[in-house]
Amino acid sequence: MERMSPSGRCSSGELPIPNNALAVDLGCTTDENGYVVVDSMKRTTVSGVWAIGNVTSMRSNMSMAITDGVVVAVDCTTVLLDRDWNATN
Ligand SMILES: Cc1cc2nc3c(=O)[nH]c(=O)nc-3n(C[C@H](O)[C@H](O)[C@H](O)COP(=O)(O)OP(=O)(O)OC[C@H]3O[C@@H](n4cnc5c(N)ncnc54)[C@H](O)[C@@H]3O)c2cc1C
Repeated sequence: MERMSPSGRCSSGELPIPNNALAVDLGCTTDENGYVVVDSMKRTTVSGVWAIGNVTSMRSNMSMAITDGVVVAVDCTTVLLDRDWNATN
């Protein structure tokens, strides 16, 4: 998509292309736009593989990517401790 600004300059509004090669190599499911499919804890469709940030959403930004990282850190710890965080909280 191209738009002409009031000043007459032209800009391109291409959608970002997620850099999903590693996730795809690992067998993770992606959506129709190439974003890695994750659940609320950022778990992919492959056990033991999490994905965060830009590779999961075109609406991501620094704050969201960092927040995703915190979610995954908690979930990884939960998995490593072999307890169900959701069942106890
Ligand atoms: C020009 C520009 C300006 C922006 N300005 C803002 C802003 O002002 N505020 C804001 O909140 N956000 C901004 N963003 C968005 C923000 O930068 C991203 O949302 C954020 O960096 C996403 O973090 P990420 O960790 O998901 O991805 P990235 O920061 O892209 O990190 C992914 C990393 O994984 C590495 N990688 C990829 N594939 C592999 C592989 N196979 N093996 C090993 N490493 C791999 C990449 O090299 C990269 O270092 C901006 C983005 C751009 C492009």
